[in-house]
Amino acid sequence: MPKKRKTRRRRRRGGLGRLLRPLSVLLTAVAVVAALTMFFKVSTVEVTGSSRYQAGEVAAASGVELGDNLVLLDKYHIAQRIYTELPYVTEARINRKFPSTLVLDVTETSAVASIQGAGGYWLLNAGEKLLEVVDETGAQDYLRITGLEAVNPAVSARLDGGMDPLDLLREALGEFELEVLDTAPVEYRCYCSRERVSRALISMGKKDLTELIAEQGQAELTCQFCDQVYRFSREELETLLAEM
Ligand SMILES: [Zn+2]
Repeated sequence: MPKKRKTRRRRRRGGLGRLLRPLSVLLTAVAVVAALTMFFKVSTVEVTGSSRYQAGEVAAASGVELGDNLVLLDKYHIAQRIYTELPYVTEARINRKFPSTLVLDVTETSAVASIQGAGGYWLLNAGEKLLEVVDETGAQDYLRITGLEAVNPAVSARLDGGMDPLDLLREALGEFELEVLDTAPVEYRCYCSRERVSRALISMGKKDLTELIAEQGQAELTCQFCDQVYRFSREELETLLAEM
């Protein structure tokens, strides 16, 4: 439960009151971020560890452009883009070399076997990861796996093509008799509410809440999942305190 976790963390640090930092700290942080943003821009992308792919291909797959901010780059997303674009890459480490170099260090895998499937022969590495589809000539150097058929080798591509998840399930489960008991719409939403935030405030305990009212006179809590801001006036906080 999101709120609970948040509250616990706050209590460990000694109450919400002490968390709401002075404005001067905030201003310093803004200045530091501004400085980082101004000074550290990517001017070189270095690629190491690749042999199948050209350095330029790896750099392009990363989605990073010259002039992007070196500090604010999202390493996780860069690695994900490389994995998606370049299937032979099994590991991508993203490092910053200040002031202006981004280093992409990749580990590549190689094909060891092929399996016949939709559209030709799929090459697989030792970990059975599907690497690419080739024609028969391209597959002849590799161990051929027979008796198995790659029925549905690329789920994401099928979904892109507008295939219904239920159709995919039917195809994957083939001979099993799939019975749909119920369906429900899927959506992204947060379960935070004013009531939950109130409970979080109450769980701070009388002492901390009293302190918070004395020091801040009000409270502003932001849900760390959806960024919804909940404001409590002094009167509302005092009502909560009275209920405890
Ligand atoms: Zn929320």
